Amino acid sequence: MSKLKCSCGHIIIDQADNLKYKAYLLPDIVVDSVSNIFTTIIDSLIDALDAGTRLEWIKNNFLPSYPKDLKNSSMIHDLISDDLIEKSKDIFECEKCGMVGY
Ligand SMILES: [Zn+2]
Repeated sequence: MSKLKCSCGHIIIDQADNLKYKAYLLPDIVVDSVSNIFTTIIDSLIDALDAGTRLEWIKNNFLPSYPKDLKNSSMIHDLISDDLIEKSKDIFECEKCGMVGY
């Protein structure tokens, strides 16, 4: 959450969610590792569900305070989001001149 000044002088404000002028850049060099993490997380949850060890899987992947009654898709979202945020860069399109930068 910050403010950026475009070369045209426009101030780009990053202080809310779902901004139409904000995007995420995922470098090509990390695409395979991110994809592998996604599939590994999903496979491990499916294996835990098959084995009846969902609560142990939650314990192994989250802090003790993490809710135990979330949908499986929500837990996968939380794990994948962390990885995506860590490996991607924020980019912005100036609404005044159209310049893209980060
Ligand atoms: Zn601009």
